[in-house]
Amino acid sequence: MSNRAIFLDRDDTLIKDVPYSGDITLVELLPNVREALEMLKNHGFCLFMVSNQSGVGRGLITAEQVHAVNQEILRQLGKNYFKDIYLCFSVPGQDDEGCRKPNPGMIWRARDEHDLDLAASFLIGDKPSDIFCAQNAGCRSVLLLTGTHGENLDDAKKAADFFADDLLQAAEWICRDSNIT
Ligand SMILES: [Mg+2]
Repeated sequence: MSNRAIFLDRDDTLIKDVPYSGDITLVELLPNVREALEMLKNHGFCLFMVSNQSGVGRGLITAEQVHAVNQEILRQLGKNYFKDIYLCFSVPGQDDEGCRKPNPGMIWRARDEHDLDLAASFLIGDKPSDIFCAQNAGCRSVLLLTGTHGENLDDAKKAADFFADDLLQAAEWICRDSNIT
């Protein structure tokens, strides 16, 4: 039987977005993130982080710095909730081999590597690119209104299955009200 997954964006979904930061002292979990991850995991979902990190492709930060920030997230959570972490370092407008959200590459790689049922899986993120990635990949989506990017969310709200004020509200909806069985 295939596994159900929750794909989580990183910046402004799990942690406060500090653009192109490789500084672990600036890592700050958003409110209720640990509770939300605990709820989703207890509900039987496999959790994955899926993050565009074009700062690496732009030469602003190193891959090692991105990994260090991710490790700091796990340290602050006190537990590794994630079955795997998928990152795309490509720069917009350059060939990303299908990995940069809204392209579905990271989701499809996770599906192939972890035997996931995408139709019963959700991507949660704060940007239109997260929601359109879910659409392109064939999974469901929840848009978080936690973003500090200033992008217009009208189309993303229409495309998303639900939108929520924070990750805990998204988790509550997925676990109680989304009618997944
Ligand atoms: Mg984000």
